[in-house]
Amino acid sequence: MSFFATTELTRSFGGVTAVDRATVEVLPGKINGLIGPNGSGKTTFFNLVTGVIKPDSGVVTFRGAPVTGFPPHRIAQAGLGRTFQVTRLLPRLTVMDNMLVAVRSRGIRDVLRKVAPAEDVERAMDWLRRVGIDHLRDQPAQLLSYGQQKMLEIASILMADPELILLDEPAGGVNPVMVERIATLVRELNAEGRTFLIVEHNMELVMSLCDHVVVFSRGTPIAAGPPSMIQTDPRVLEAYLGG
Ligand code: ADP
Ligand code: MG
Repeated sequence: MSFFATTELTRSFGGVTAVDRATVEVLPGKINGLIGPNGSGKTTFFNLVTGVIKPDSGVVTFRGAPVTGFPPHRIAQAGLGRTFQVTRLLPRLTVMDNMLVAVRSRGIRDVLRKVAPAEDVERAMDWLRRVGIDHLRDQPAQLLSYGQQKMLEIASILMADPELILLDEPAGGVNPVMVERIATLVRELNAEGRTFLIVEHNMELVMSLCDHVVVFSRGTPIAAGPPSMIQTDPRVLEAYLGG
């Protein structure tokens, strides 16, 4: 039984097949990377497996059960958390309120009415401390630096205690100090048993962080293996240079 896998997952937009019969296996307990040239379907793949959009065909399984086409909240409940390439924080809400909105059972209305239970606030504080932004708890999210916003988004998905975490370009636009902090956090969370699938353009980061890398080209994997193998794979070079 595989931990997380897709079989022949496919999705087109008009004439463009963004994800094309993608069969992908995520190794449990590992930091998995997903790389590929711009437009190769990585974000669409994330959107498909997290229920943001529905596939035309194919299957997604998580912990042995099909989750294909499930709505995002059910996929989150199953234990899959995800950040976005462009963060989806609520910019005018405080850091703490963004954390509380992320708690599955509570909607934004309850948060705004300040009825969050103390235990949720406590758990949120623990995660904020963990990612190093607890001192910003009462600041509107929009006042945070880009790197801090990325940290907040990671912290907010941790509120749901996900087993598998998908990060879409966590280092994109983030300064090197913060990139290192994000990498350290990912390594720690992985050591604590959480599996990662990370889309990232910073190759140095991918190669140092990931145990296993899947390479997309034109919506489908063309290679998968340890970073050392991927780096020397001629098909990968061709995908990036071939246009
Ligand atoms: P990546 O994240 O690897 O850069 P994307 O998944 O964003 O790639 O895009 C893959 C392809 O699908 C691109 O050609 C893109 O233009 C197209 N695409 C993605 N989303 C949409 C959409 N909502 N409508 C139309 N085309 C889309
Ligand atoms: Mg993308």
